[in-house]
Amino acid sequence: LLRVPDRDTADKLIAETIASGNWSKHLGRADSWLVNASTWGLMIAGRMIKTPEAGGRVMARLVARAGEPIVRAAALQAMKLLGEQFVLGRTIHEALARGRGLIKRGEASTFSFDMLGEGARTAADAARYAQRYAEAIDAIVAGANLAGPEDGPGVSIKLSALHPRYDARHEDEVFAELYPVLLDLARRARAGDISFCLDAEEADRLILSLKLLDRLTAEPDLLHWGGLGLAVQAYQKRARAVIADVAELARNRDMRLMVRLVKGAYWDGEIKRAQVAGRPDYSVFTTKAGTDASYLACARDLLAAAPALYPQFATHNAHTAIAVKALAAEAGVREFEFQRLHGMGEALYAGQDAGDEKPVRVYAPVGQHDDLLPYLVRRLLENGANASFVHGFLDDDVSPDIVACDPLAKLEAGPMRGPRIPIPPKIFDGRENSSGRDLSITAERSALERARADTLRFSAGDEGDVIGVALSAQIDWNARGPKARGDILRAMADALQANADPLTALLAHEAKRTLQDGVDEVREAIDFCRYYGAEAERLMPLQPLPSPVGEDNALELMGRGVFVCISPWNFPLSIFTGQIAAALAAGNCVIAKPAEQTPRIAQAAIQLFREAGLPPQVLRLALGDGAVGAKLTADPRIAGVAFTGSTETARAINRTLAAHEGPLPVLIAETGGLNGMFVDTTALKEQVVDDVIVSAFGSAGQRCSSLRVLFLPHDTADGILETLKGALEAQIIGDPANPRTDIGPIIDGEAKAGLEAHLARMRKAGRTVTQIDVANLGGNFFGPAIVELDNLDLLEREVFGPILHVVRYDPDAVQTIGAQLAVKGYGLTLGVHSRLDSFAEAVIHAVPAGNVYVNRSIIGAVVGVQPFGGLGLSGTGPKAGGPHYIPRFCVERVRTINTTAQGGDPRLLSL
Ligand code: FAD
Ligand code: NAD
Repeated sequence: LLRVPDRDTADKLIAETIASGNWSKHLGRADSWLVNASTWGLMIAGRMIKTPEAGGRVMARLVARAGEPIVRAAALQAMKLLGEQFVLGRTIHEALARGRGLIKRGEASTFSFDMLGEGARTAADAARYAQRYAEAIDAIVAGANLAGPEDGPGVSIKLSALHPRYDARHEDEVFAELYPVLLDLARRARAGDISFCLDAEEADRLILSLKLLDRLTAEPDLLHWGGLGLAVQAYQKRARAVIADVAELARNRDMRLMVRLVKGAYWDGEIKRAQVAGRPDYSVFTTKAGTDASYLACARDLLAAAPALYPQFATHNAHTAIAVKALAAEAGVREFEFQRLHGMGEALYAGQDAGDEKPVRVYAPVGQHDDLLPYLVRRLLENGANASFVHGFLDDDVSPDIVACDPLAKLEAGPMRGPRIPIPPKIFDGRENSSGRDLSITAERSALERARADTLRFSAGDEGDVIGVALSAQIDWNARGPKARGDILRAMADALQANADPLTALLAHEAKRTLQDGVDEVREAIDFCRYYGAEAERLMPLQPLPSPVGEDNALELMGRGVFVCISPWNFPLSIFTGQIAAALAAGNCVIAKPAEQTPRIAQAAIQLFREAGLPPQVLRLALGDGAVGAKLTADPRIAGVAFTGSTETARAINRTLAAHEGPLPVLIAETGGLNGMFVDTTALKEQVVDDVIVSAFGSAGQRCSSLRVLFLPHDTADGILETLKGALEAQIIGDPANPRTDIGPIIDGEAKAGLEAHLARMRKAGRTVTQIDVANLGGNFFGPAIVELDNLDLLEREVFGPILHVVRYDPDAVQTIGAQLAVKGYGLTLGVHSRLDSFAEAVIHAVPAGNVYVNRSIIGAVVGVQPFGGLGLSGTGPKAGGPHYIPRFCVERVRTINTTAQGGDPRLLSL
């Protein structure tokens, strides 16, 4: 709400959000004035907006007359209140002043200041955050009076704020560009001897942060400094190993490091990432008791490592805090501190006996509302989660012995794993999830870099009458039944999984896909095999039909005959394998015709099919270009064609099939799109930019689902475009086989020339074109480009590459603008970025599309999760990876058997 620039949209957001909550249920249930006051406010506002019949009418009239500005002002006020609850000040000077007040009133004794801002998207963001940190450190140092890192104030650094590519794949950039900034900040902190803590962020950034810390400790300027430190997350299974490593580092460098032990604030994100990426298991514990117990184990390790490590225990959990005190007493360690977040844990630590204990340090975020959101969301999730100590503590229905129960006892009573959180390989019913390499892990990254395509075996193309051979094998193949066919497909899935690394290498080499694209594509091929195998088993067995007595009726599905499967070069493994797997699962024999650009990948896949036990006559490989495809599709003996490629080729194939004199074959065609994304002013800029970058420029824009036209609201377009351009500049363009590469080249010179011609036309028409310069790369590299258009007049067809068109519009006119996109006739993917359900609905109604994505990227459909395929010019359906795909490859037969014909129905007589 604080970021929405226009009043109308702010009002809509308030109306939708507030009216959707059952606020009265929550009123008076919390002991916190903040929760109650805001609930009360939201409830009143909700009533006013909902305008229920009787009582609400007065209110409704009030809203109608003068209400909305009042409601808006109240809601904004409530948001600001929430912000103030968790943020100490808008600037470091305001925070320092407010902090002095808190100290004077005995409500705090010392601070670690955090400059809000994380996840820089552009170099400009990073520079701005670095500047803020530098100024803050200087200001803190000025007021610290050299009290030292233990007793005086300090600073907490979010490394993701300091570089747009702070991730493991971009270690070189991080050391070249982020590290000097970090060193400068550390030197400033050292000059004033204030504490300097590297905050812990997502788990896949842990190792990189440790490498940066390692380098810092080797700096001559920072030698023997006792203020340097980091946060360690106990929810990570690696936490104890991290503490052991950091202790060793401190001893080796002969310096003391400060270690803040937290449980961790990104738990839900870690779980999601592991599932999406198909990891073998989670990097974090899946029970709260597991994390709590890990915290205590880590606490003991930390205390044992003192004084090489200075333990800093950050928790708002009374049980955890008391247990830590007991462990410290047991270990005889007195040099340690507790920490809490500003706005939380006051009650817990107010009771702390001042005596000879260290003061409690308050983590104090500083910043404007623009940068508040991610932090605030983490705090609200933390306070709102059922599992959290503060939540249970405030809930009268949860008894004290539950709130303060011993995590070890709880673990012993079981379960050890979260029962509703299956491991990632098991998240799908009835089939295993594919697994993929994690490029943020050095060992996995180098395994991929080492992988060589020539360890694969390649089937030769089949010559002669491929259709005749397949035809003669089809009846037997169909007769094997779905279970036997499924077994072969599952064996194929396992073979793909076992060869995932060399296949990824081959995808980079032959199809110019980046390593991440390759990992994802192999996974998709595996998922297709397992999914279609399971689907055929589900759908194909004889299904009994409702029948009168004395008669059995049943429906069965069978293969049609011989299918020709024609695939494009841009998913040369997954689409190639997916089409074949579906046709085979349904009992057909297949002639596979891969794209002429990517024969080797097809040959490797065919070889794996055969090694998985598929009789060679059942699947024939026809290598060659469009002419080969044209000849196959003209053959009167074929029963159907599964085609994926351009709309033009689909038309040609359709005409060829229409000319058949014999039985009409079926055509399943999946083609291109002119895919749009509509953004309104409630959308989150950073999320929009992340999703646009992967949607439009990922795979160099050479996906059918890639984003082609981005619609930005007039009110926020400038800001989003600026960040988008900055984020595009931070993308790394180069050799797709190098793990640091984000964007590889264009498939061939002809395709590149087409893109150049398109941009030339746009420039000639006077449109603003922003293009990344890749002249130094040569070859088929093409600089990703953003073209600003006034409307869609210049766009008629899919432009297959990294060119994003941007149109500014008024989201209120989404019906009209949407209709302008709809008349182009495509209907593949569609994106919406908005917090308003009503806006998303309006877009979905205005623009036809087979796959709609709200508040995420528009690429990367997952088999069985997002069945994929388009409407109109984009395809015939049914969707690949969906429940209606297999039946399209089948013919149906109904069997009716008169069971009385033999003289009576025993079932009727025994009723
Ligand atoms: P509790 O209620 O006892 O624990 C809640 C925590 O348990 C959750 O946050 C989660 O970590 C864990 N949990 C919840 N459910 C499950 C489950 N099903 N399975 C496994 N684990 C579960 N966090 C960071 O990530 N990085 C930082 O740098 C960081 N700095 C901080 C600095 C300070 C001073 C403080 C006080 C907190 C900081 N945090 C940081 C946030 C911290 O991670 C959370 O405040 C903390 O997890 C809450 O733990 P608790 O002991 O107060 O509460
Ligand atoms: P393309 O149409 O040029 O070629 C696709 C396949 O058709 C190739 O194997 C080619 O040899 C064959 N072919 C060409 N002419 C033929 C003919 N007359 N008869 C039979 N076969 C013929 O497409 P492409 O350049 O390889 O792939 C890019 C296109 O594919 C883009 O338009 C993209 O949007 C589309 N695509 C769509 C999807 C989807 O699921 N909707 C997925 C990936 C790619």
